[in-house]
Amino acid sequence: MAVNLLDFDLEGLAAYCESLGEKRFRAVQLFRWIHQKGASDFEQMSDLAKSLRGKLAGVAEVQGPRLLSEHRSADGTVKWLFDVGAGNAVEAVYIPEADRGTLCVSSQAGCAVGCRFCSTGHQGFSRNLSTAEIVGQLRFAERRMRQPDGERVIDNVVMMGMGEPLQNYAALLPALRTMLDDHGYGLSRRRVTVSTSGVVPMIDRLREDCPVALAVSLHAPTDTLRDGLVPLNRKYPLAELLEACRRYLDKAPRDFITFEYCMLDGVNDTPEHAAELVRLVSGQAAANRGGLHIPCKFNLIPFNPFPASGLLRSSRARVQAFALVLQDAGFVTTVRKTRGDDIDAACGQLAGEVQDRTNARERLARQRVIPISERGATA
Ligand code: SAH
Ligand code: SF4
Repeated sequence: MAVNLLDFDLEGLAAYCESLGEKRFRAVQLFRWIHQKGASDFEQMSDLAKSLRGKLAGVAEVQGPRLLSEHRSADGTVKWLFDVGAGNAVEAVYIPEADRGTLCVSSQAGCAVGCRFCSTGHQGFSRNLSTAEIVGQLRFAERRMRQPDGERVIDNVVMMGMGEPLQNYAALLPALRTMLDDHGYGLSRRRVTVSTSGVVPMIDRLREDCPVALAVSLHAPTDTLRDGLVPLNRKYPLAELLEACRRYLDKAPRDFITFEYCMLDGVNDTPEHAAELVRLVSGQAAANRGGLHIPCKFNLIPFNPFPASGLLRSSRARVQAFALVLQDAGFVTTVRKTRGDDIDAACGQLAGEVQDRTNARERLARQRVIPISERGATA
């Protein structure tokens, strides 16, 4: 089977070139052709020796995920659905803004974490994407959207599509390195964001291997509430998660963590929840054993409902009141604009057409539903 060169970061490609008896510097040329010029055909790569081109054609390929469909929203958001085989599809979303473009990238087909409010989570886990499938989403979008003058349009990548990136670390790392590489996409570390539901050991790995901007999906100020929303919390409770955030900040390219908080009507959205959240990140809550103060910003995400969730979006007034409590306590707080609503491209709506191999319905039924009395108790 041909080796897919999209699976390599530059270091990996250099090692591969050496294994073919080629000098390492050839890898830089090849990498630039693949990622900067978007070439897939070795014959196009005119500054590579003819003998190398011939050799590569026999053993290697440049193969991103196959496009299934494209949807353009009235607000300029573009969503692509990619085939990743065996009936699975994943999505990437391009979000244009006045001064920049952001691409939201998927890391898995489905997700094993199974958050209650997430439609990807409700599908269960199908499989990890390869590096080629992750970086291939950026490569595709960059080529598709590039201006006629050749200017780049994507300067932000957020790993906020389908899947938990830190549960697919082996494939994620070369993809991140390729995004950052000056011979690849040359993105700034500050503008590549890994979003995680809180895989503590892998937050530490990322800190050592490739510190990029970190967003942590918090969604609740107490373990009791978070256990029912983000099942991974039972394995890595808030105290451990916050300690990992604190450690991450030593090496992070930004001096704060972004906490994402999905606003669920009547579940986690009262002013009391907001006050508890302030205590949590200021080191004054029971769930924060170390009494750690975590420099952070909050990003409130209005819940994007889907029928199977049984949950509702918080009212605008609720979201504003919640934001005010955080802002009054001195925390920069933004409310995420919902983009691409008309094409189901908003957060947590990236359903794709993933085949469920884990019987998500049963698994979710086993998860504890938060009783009203407990909501009251945490409020
Ligand atoms: N697995 C990672 C990244 C993908 S999800 C994570 O959980 O962080 C990206 C963001 O979308 C997360 O903050 C997630 O909590 C949020 N999200 C998921 N479903 C949502 C929904 N239905 N409405 C709003 N936000 C949602
Ligand atoms: Fe997975 Fe993130 Fe969805 Fe949770 S919110 S199920 S971690 S993709």
